[in-house]
Amino acid sequence: MLSTFFINVCVMITFMYISGIIAKYYNIRVPFPSLRVQLIGGILFGVYGTVLMNYSFPLNDDTIVDLRHLAIVTAAVYLGGLASVIAGLVISILRVVMFGLSSAAIDAAFVMTLIGLSGVYFAYASWSRLTKIITMNLLGITLIFVILVLNTSSMNSLMKIYPLQMTISFVGGIFIYFIAEFINKSNEMLFLLERRASTDHLTNLSNRRQFEKSLELQLERARESKQKLSLLVIDIDRFKKVNDTYGHSSGDAVLKQLGQLLIEHSRSADIVSRNGGEEFAILLLDCGSHQALAIAESIRQSVEKYLFALPDGTTIRLTISIGVAVFPDHCDERDDADFFEQADRALYEAKNTGRNRYAPFRSGPLCLPGNVCSDMIE
Ligand code: GH3
Ligand code: MG
Ligand code: MG
Repeated sequence: MLSTFFINVCVMITFMYISGIIAKYYNIRVPFPSLRVQLIGGILFGVYGTVLMNYSFPLNDDTIVDLRHLAIVTAAVYLGGLASVIAGLVISILRVVMFGLSSAAIDAAFVMTLIGLSGVYFAYASWSRLTKIITMNLLGITLIFVILVLNTSSMNSLMKIYPLQMTISFVGGIFIYFIAEFINKSNEMLFLLERRASTDHLTNLSNRRQFEKSLELQLERARESKQKLSLLVIDIDRFKKVNDTYGHSSGDAVLKQLGQLLIEHSRSADIVSRNGGEEFAILLLDCGSHQALAIAESIRQSVEKYLFALPDGTTIRLTISIGVAVFPDHCDERDDADFFEQADRALYEAKNTGRNRYAPFRSGPLCLPGNVCSDMIE
């Protein structure tokens, strides 16, 4: 009995751990992931229950009891109602497939399906997860007991072993709760850490680190697919004046609104980031020079027209300057840093030649204030 209990504990820990890794890998958040995830999760937990069924406690010659219902309870509480129903059905079907169709198999299938169906209620009940696990587990234990009483040839042997099995089942449910909560918490913290490492806290856009990763990846893809890739580097004009006149928190409010405006004016596949201070960047995927300059101009105009609301209710207008570089037009086989430097250099020219404008990258001497740079605007 003790060794069977030990094996059950090992099986539970192993499955919970593997489930946690899968959830982390596929970015699955609990409870209630998508129906597709619930469907696949339900099948996995059904298999998990079937493995538990193989490490059962024999009651007498024709009756075994095990912890398979705990897999359904876990699926209900951590994945949702559909996962619970599927797990119940999978366990029932596999029971028949593995041990043949007998009246005991039909009864067992009936109880497991019933527990699976009850999971729809428990999954969405407004109780804590611990309460859900305890109550659904107790319901499962009771249903199994009723079926065993109806089927047993010796009530004596049933009453000798079942109370211990019930206790193990009850403790097993609580044990699963603590393991699942620990795995879930660890996953949540990893999600949060990853998000913080790649996101700018003020605007919720990608940060510089993430931008550099995206730039490298998209340049690689553009090289492989022979598609064009454009980069806009955007800087707010005279932003220091906003901070000096209205305060730093007003400056922050402007940065947030500009971030939103840039998201709204770029295409859904494009990558918008805040690279630091009042400098933003947009990677325009599969986008050549003509389209990139049109997008840059459209963004410039939208910002020029936009009324930025400050925390004290004041509204102000601002302008931006944009540097544009296009791969491979501007940097055939050069490295990623070069591509960014070209957009940055174009931004420098846009600033030097009056601000509130875009400038495409040009080779040759920099266009400085006072110079005539007729080839700058395409
Ligand atoms: P230019 O047109 O040449 O770009 O002028 P500018 O004033 O925008 O540029 P400058 O580089 O002189 O000033 C940038 C300012 O951005 C200085 C700094 O106080 C402000 N800044 C940088 N990061 C933040 C931030 O996170 N929040 C706020 N409110 N201000 C910031
Ligand atoms: Mg600026
Ligand atoms: Mg700047």
